[in-house]
Amino acid sequence: MSSLRFHLVEEAFSHTPVSVAAPDKRTSDYYGVNVFNRDKMSKYLSKETFKIVTDAIDNGKPLGREIANHVAAGMKMWAMEMGVTHYTHWFHPLTDGTAEKHDSFIEHAGSGKVSEEFEGKLLAQQEPDASSFPSGGIRNTFEARGYTAWDPSSPAFIVDDTLCIPTIFISYTGEALDYKTPLLKALSAVNQAATETCRLFDPRVNKVQSNLGWEQEYFLVDESLYSARPDLLLTGRTLMGHESSKNQQLEDHYFGSIPPRVAAFMKDLEFEGYKLGMPLKTRHNEVAPNQFELAPIYEETNLAVDHNLLVMDVMHKVAKRHHFQLLLHEKPYAGINGSGKHNNWSLSTDTGVNLYGPGKNATENLMFVTFLVNTLMAVYKNNALLKASVATATNEHRLGANEAPPAIISAFLGSQISKVLDELEASTTDEAIKFDAKGVFQMGVGQIPELLIDNTDRNRTSSFAFTGNRFEFRAVGSSANCASAMTVLNTAVAVQLAEFNAEVKKRMAAGENKEKAVFAIIREYIKMSKPIRFDGNGYSDEWKAEALERGLDCETSVPVQYDAYLKPEVIDMFVKSGVMSEVELYARNEVKWETYTKKIQIESRVLGDMAMNHIIPVATRYQSSLLDNVYKLKGLFEPAAFKKLSAEKIGMIEEIESHVDAVQTMVGLMVEARKVANKIDNEREKAVAYHDTISPYFSKIRYHIDKLELIVDNEIWPLPKYRELLFIR
Ligand code: ADP
Ligand code: MG
Repeated sequence: MSSLRFHLVEEAFSHTPVSVAAPDKRTSDYYGVNVFNRDKMSKYLSKETFKIVTDAIDNGKPLGREIANHVAAGMKMWAMEMGVTHYTHWFHPLTDGTAEKHDSFIEHAGSGKVSEEFEGKLLAQQEPDASSFPSGGIRNTFEARGYTAWDPSSPAFIVDDTLCIPTIFISYTGEALDYKTPLLKALSAVNQAATETCRLFDPRVNKVQSNLGWEQEYFLVDESLYSARPDLLLTGRTLMGHESSKNQQLEDHYFGSIPPRVAAFMKDLEFEGYKLGMPLKTRHNEVAPNQFELAPIYEETNLAVDHNLLVMDVMHKVAKRHHFQLLLHEKPYAGINGSGKHNNWSLSTDTGVNLYGPGKNATENLMFVTFLVNTLMAVYKNNALLKASVATATNEHRLGANEAPPAIISAFLGSQISKVLDELEASTTDEAIKFDAKGVFQMGVGQIPELLIDNTDRNRTSSFAFTGNRFEFRAVGSSANCASAMTVLNTAVAVQLAEFNAEVKKRMAAGENKEKAVFAIIREYIKMSKPIRFDGNGYSDEWKAEALERGLDCETSVPVQYDAYLKPEVIDMFVKSGVMSEVELYARNEVKWETYTKKIQIESRVLGDMAMNHIIPVATRYQSSLLDNVYKLKGLFEPAAFKKLSAEKIGMIEEIESHVDAVQTMVGLMVEARKVANKIDNEREKAVAYHDTISPYFSKIRYHIDKLELIVDNEIWPLPKYRELLFIR
């Protein structure tokens, strides 16, 4: 075996499964050991501090400096017992992933000695020199400072030798520079509005919590093979590569037995996750070869988002230990399924009721229908915005492809719930509020006990599906910070519920009885929100046409999708709910456009380099060997025999020439298009130019490269092929 590629394949096969972590304990014995959770707090904080902190966590009460000092002292004691030497504020800037800057606990203690210190002010607030985080122009240099501030609702945790403190990240002038700040505001807005709605039905409700259960899809690829793919290394996806003869057509991977080396990775990942207090529950093979999924039990949304960000980081690290590279890109390979991150979402009350679960009595069922229908309204009104909240340069490859939700947001309800809504819509108010002797509604609503909801009534092609006791937002990308989608969804529902509450109040003030008012409004909403309901095949072309007719947003260009954030009614919604200001919305869109441009720019450069440095030299070398062969044949054979013998080879030489020529020409044109786009100052226009005039070259250039891959001698092809990337594990 000659080439580097063969050597790497050999090396990849030598990577054997070894589980590093072999805890011979029960999960519950070490679950959460690295988290400063309530259990630790009760041990390391005084009774009084513990009470104040838990009250702050449960009810969002602010914490004073004095309390921060007490908490910091307790945290330090615990952390040092755990062998920790450093601490960091852990935050989520507007980039992919998280940010941290580690400081050690040490301070001068005189006489050339040091002591470990950690005061409340260091816990509560820091000023990271963070001028290079994206801010969309909010922090020009004279106010370049940004602050991180402690989020007590997400517990501190230990990674390696460092105590990590979840924080928000804001500018000197108070604008959010991160994902967490608006999320917390959205969660507070939905709590407020939903609690008020609940109290129409049940005055005992004092709090409504938003819940999120994410399902994280990912690919693993052997690190040796990965190292020879500059495109994977620099962009997270393959920019070229002919499809493997076998890929996912036999559907033999999904739920198949987990390959041993992958199983070892998963075990170690879960071990690390459990220590960090993540309730990881499900692991399985996904549809595509070398694609897998991880899902925890759902948690409060802010915590679930933090856990997802943390697990993505842990996954990368654990994968390395197993000589894998983790791919979170939404579409690492053309022609096979990409990766998403379904966001299972619901609201629940402090009285223990899931507001999206059909209830056990008439009141709970009316509450259920109220929340369901208001959610449909929120999704209907904000379908363009919800799409924009998950739109990225990487997710663009997945949405609209034949595997993922289309680039249209619609809601699937299933036949049972649809029937309930249809009946409600057709009923008159008076019959709708009739109760039988047991207090159960006589209309459909009251008659669906929880167990009757058919969980198998599913639709994989819907972007926003009701799945029995929750909605599942499926358009979220695998690499995304869920906070973006969760901020929009919770804000939209909060504002919709507030509108509903006001309408009920208005009608009641006019003398209408409460139930009648609720039914009348719900019936109106059912009619209005109809265009968002779609139970058919979301992948079909007919749906695209129909959705357009229904007035749903069908925009496919990501930079243009971002415009949804700046529509007057959307700005109004964010401002009214206190989630984001107009300045923040404009700044964030700048960041989105800039990020889009940069990602396409990087891909374009990598593609150009690989085409010119990897592919063309090898194709030309193979072409020369064919030419050499033809010349030798010519010297040996009579013209007639030569013609016969050489015809096919000459055909190949010509074919290589035409592909090489096409690649060279188009790379040249792409570079020219880049030069034109780079001169544009306006971030939106630049991103649109990158979308419209540069990215179309990607598939065209790739087409010819993939053809060359099939012609050129396998021995000299420099890049690991799809069959190797996808089937070696
Ligand atoms: P699927 O059948 O879609 O693969 P699972 O049953 O594995 O889904 O659950 C997916 C996620 O949904 C899990 O994280 C689960 O905890 C979460 N989930 C279940 N019920 C709710 C709920 N009421 N609210 C939010 N998430 C939920
Ligand atoms: Mg699911």
